[in-house]
Amino acid sequence: MAGFEPVIGLEVHTELNSESKVFCDDPNIFGAEPNTQVSPISLGLPGTLPVLNKVSFEKALRTAVALHCDITRRTSFDRKHYYYPDLPKNYQISQDYDPLGRNGFVDLHLKDGQQKKIRINNIHLEEDAGKLVHPTDPASRGLSWVDLNRAGMPLLEIVTEPDIRNLEEMEVFMQTLRGILRYLDVSDCKMQEGSLRFEVNLSMRPKGSDEFGTKVEVKNVGSIKAALRAAKYEIIRQTEILESGGEVVQQTCLWDDDKGETRPMRSKEVAKDYRYFPDPDLPPVAISEGWLNSVQNDLPELQDAKRIRFIDQYGLPEYDAGVLVSDRTIADYFETCCGLHSAPKTFSNWIMVEVLRELQNREIEIDECPLTPKRLVELVKLVEGGTISNNIAKEVLLDVMETGKSPSEVVEEKGLKQESDEGALLAIIQEVIEENPGPAEEFRSGKEKAIGFLMGQVMKKTQGKANPGVCKPLLEKQLRS
Ligand code: ADP
Ligand code: MG
Repeated sequence: MAGFEPVIGLEVHTELNSESKVFCDDPNIFGAEPNTQVSPISLGLPGTLPVLNKVSFEKALRTAVALHCDITRRTSFDRKHYYYPDLPKNYQISQDYDPLGRNGFVDLHLKDGQQKKIRINNIHLEEDAGKLVHPTDPASRGLSWVDLNRAGMPLLEIVTEPDIRNLEEMEVFMQTLRGILRYLDVSDCKMQEGSLRFEVNLSMRPKGSDEFGTKVEVKNVGSIKAALRAAKYEIIRQTEILESGGEVVQQTCLWDDDKGETRPMRSKEVAKDYRYFPDPDLPPVAISEGWLNSVQNDLPELQDAKRIRFIDQYGLPEYDAGVLVSDRTIADYFETCCGLHSAPKTFSNWIMVEVLRELQNREIEIDECPLTPKRLVELVKLVEGGTISNNIAKEVLLDVMETGKSPSEVVEEKGLKQESDEGALLAIIQEVIEENPGPAEEFRSGKEKAIGFLMGQVMKKTQGKANPGVCKPLLEKQLRS
């Protein structure tokens, strides 16, 4: 890829977390029995009329404001026509002529401390389509099921300018945007439920060129990980074509996550013509100065502001603050702990290493975590009070995760209390010295490092329960005597 660089623009679809669908009052929930959340409006029956859901609209507006967009003060809805079995009206209500927001941006904090702005071309509100299900059992071969529960769910589309230049920027952009959407409480962004989806537009150009090459659009990418894989695949594919003197064909592709490849769907010659026209059933929405101001004033504290405050208020290193604010629920968890007990850096260490790792292993969210803030505080206090060692505390944490018991219960039941009694420790220390005359002699003849081995033996004999603060001076004294 030496001579070429990627140019990437993303179209991000996020399902808004309002209670109802965007143009009717069918519930907006995931996972219901197929075709049970469908009124005549969701079914697109003749004679039905859409009515805009105010909560969905406000969530869209809040997002546009948070992403620094120019707000279209008189925004309207258009019909986007295409025929598809899961689109009962044969058109999708979307926004084309007057999208809600334009000319926004997202600030990225990249790994090497550099910052970059990714511009947003526009943000618009639309309705989702239903879902086709292709059963795999032999009896249903050749059949497709249509589930219209998703038809009419509120969908926000965020379109970037082609400002992304490599996979790191692309990943940080997707993570940052996901964080913002969750901070704003406009979407849960659960990728496993399809609440955050991507279309990846990618072209290659000679390094140093300021013109764009021919792009390929990859549709239907259901996660951040898959979007990165799709982009990497296209970078390699297009570079190979260009390096061998060929030309990239402008086309729309589908991403096949199982095979790990893109597959052509349609080329420019059969390019879509959506025949957009204003939806006559929906009046334009006028956004008053007062409404806009109140949305602006009600914006929650977002990542960047919170990062600065965490460094200031809790004395955290920049790195810690960056990790903790990446998601609102993690930041909240941290602050709840700090409200119960003042040990910010200790909590930060536990959260960044143990807690986040276990959430990932167990594929759960921090607000579903059996180790609640109260329990983490309890665990930290057990270490601070000398009841258990830091290493044992890590074991206890796993137990709490597994069983949902409190840390003290686990310590009690499993007999994990640290041994701090000098008499009991002395007996063990003497045993260890007798069994290991070599290292003991080394220590006495000035090789102080040998004590590490002997401490290790004491720990082994006590299953890690010897209190090092008591044990180490005792061992030293015993060796010297
Ligand atoms: P289309 O008309 O094909 O939908 P748009 O100009 O509306 O194309 O852009 C759609 C997306 O493609 C945007 O996210 C934009 O940033 C991106 N894009 C446009 N041109 C290029 C290019 N040459 N290379 C990569 N991405 C591009
Ligand atoms: Mg597109």
